[in-house]
Amino acid sequence: MSVTEHDRTAAGSETAWDTALAQLDEVAEMMGLAPGVHEILRSPKRALIVSVPFRMDDGSTRVYEGYRVHHNVTRGPAKGGIRYHPDVGLDEVKALAMWMTWKCAIAGIPFGGAKGGIAVDPRQHSRSELERMTRRFASEILPLIGPERDIPAPDMNTDEEIMSWIMDTYSMNSGYSVPGVVTGKPVAIGGSRGRSGATSRGVMYMVFAMMRSLGLGIEEISVAIQGYGKVGGFLAQLLHDAGCRVVAISDVEGGLYRERGLDPEAINRHKREAGTVVGAPDCDAITNAELLELDCDVLIPAAVEGVITVKNADRVRARVICEAANGPITFEADKILNERGVYVVPDILANSGGVTVSYFEWVQDIQAYFWSEEEVNDRLRMIMERAFDDVSSFAEEKNLTLRQAAQWIGVGRVSEAHLTRGLFP
Ligand code: NAD
Repeated sequence: MSVTEHDRTAAGSETAWDTALAQLDEVAEMMGLAPGVHEILRSPKRALIVSVPFRMDDGSTRVYEGYRVHHNVTRGPAKGGIRYHPDVGLDEVKALAMWMTWKCAIAGIPFGGAKGGIAVDPRQHSRSELERMTRRFASEILPLIGPERDIPAPDMNTDEEIMSWIMDTYSMNSGYSVPGVVTGKPVAIGGSRGRSGATSRGVMYMVFAMMRSLGLGIEEISVAIQGYGKVGGFLAQLLHDAGCRVVAISDVEGGLYRERGLDPEAINRHKREAGTVVGAPDCDAITNAELLELDCDVLIPAAVEGVITVKNADRVRARVICEAANGPITFEADKILNERGVYVVPDILANSGGVTVSYFEWVQDIQAYFWSEEEVNDRLRMIMERAFDDVSSFAEEKNLTLRQAAQWIGVGRVSEAHLTRGLFP
């Protein structure tokens, strides 16, 4: 599916920020949230817009707009990824930052919510241009970031190497190495074992927990995954290795379908050569729109926001949707899915494996004491399964959807922190 086609599917009239606010307002009313706290939580604490000029390889200058938003830091330093995508804008970053606040609170991690990004199509730049752009962006947001203030991490189109450049830029300005300023960096400079696969691993735990709660076995469940990047790509491999049938995958260029199940290793080989999953052998071509409407047990959006809207929600045939991406379902579409009996494991619970191991990485950096991959994975599993149990039992007790229950718990913990600290001055 082309980006334009995506825009048509996704556009509707509900933006990511509309979705995030509607979710907060709904749960604020249900839980009787203190009006002052509700008002505070409806706006980000601070938002920085920066201009990011950098030198192109041909000597000319290019300028993009960059953002860093702190939604809330009442429970601890701000935490959230940095995204490079042409659609990045202030409202999207505000929404992503708000979701990070709830996500950290639900996982019981002592961080607040942040997000950042640059409105750029990274495919149009060389690696050295991206390095100069990243270092300039890091310098521009320097007043906001730091191990005790705000700790960026990778998100769409950003990776370990980009985190290294941010860490290096910050460290050069400090005069000494500061590994704790970013997470998701290479192990060689203080990254955590298990971080690169943590989001995918966490999503897998959530799929399995959901299947268990429905009394279904995991063997042979059919899964469709939209987005074959850091999260979706490794998740396809993990689920395939666990015995699930991954029947469809896609990237921004289009999708693949195979009823008997796809072979992630063959797809990875093809992707390394072709730069896309499209055209991999022994599979049928499908569009991203078709993938979302496939008859399968579990649908996992792992790409962008707003792909399931009022326009296609009644055509989704999956029994369970596990949100690896942030905000893939609009508020209105979520209601339709709920009415139709589709179970949704919400982003703020389902994809919290990444921030959980980012927290582990930060702790290891601060203590300068590093854990084995086994320890990381075991603790990740423990935290995520506990979070799932907390959310699902609360949902049952109060007769809520999993999203409402997760949101209630997250907002409740942030509210408790606000009320405990009091309003300054
Ligand atoms: P990525 O850049 O590594 O991969 C994104 C994938 O989505 C690519 O395959 C890309 O081709 C595809 N894609 C992009 N636009 C698309 C479109 N319009 N339609 C279909 N496919 C499209 O990004 P990622 O890190 O894997 O992140 C994916 C999602 O997961 C994002 O919503 C991100 O916020 C969320 N997430 C990521 C992490 C993490 O640790 N990386 C953690 C939590 C949540």
